[in-house]
Amino acid sequence: MTDDCLFCRIVAGEIPATVVHETDDTLAFRDIDPKAPTHVLVIPRAHHADVAALTAADPALAGKVLAACAAVAEQEGLTGDGYRLIFNTGRFGGQEVFHVHGHVLGGRPLGRMLA
Ligand code: IMP
Repeated sequence: MTDDCLFCRIVAGEIPATVVHETDDTLAFRDIDPKAPTHVLVIPRAHHADVAALTAADPALAGKVLAACAAVAEQEGLTGDGYRLIFNTGRFGGQEVFHVHGHVLGGRPLGRMLA
């Protein structure tokens, strides 16, 4: 728990969130400003700043976060048409909250991001 981390405070129940999936090690909740019909954030309960830090510190937990992302996609009915999974990393990656989180996005065609 990091006192000044928004997502640690959601894990602690200090800030409300619409939780859609949880395990002993992970939490998934709806993004407050959704960019697609389905937009869920998947986090480890433990604080790690980004996906590189998480993977270096605890690769097994990184695997559990990925499994939770897949479970959310299945639960949200996204597997038929597909979905996008994004881990924004660092300033140039557009990361704003420095508690690692996977964005699970789907429910409409998302277009190509890379030419
Ligand atoms: P990032 O840019 O990859 O760090 O994504 C941070 C995400 O957190 C953004 O999509 C925000 O809309 C989302 N967000 C910020 N505050 C909250 C909150 O309190 N609840 C749920 N999502 C949030």
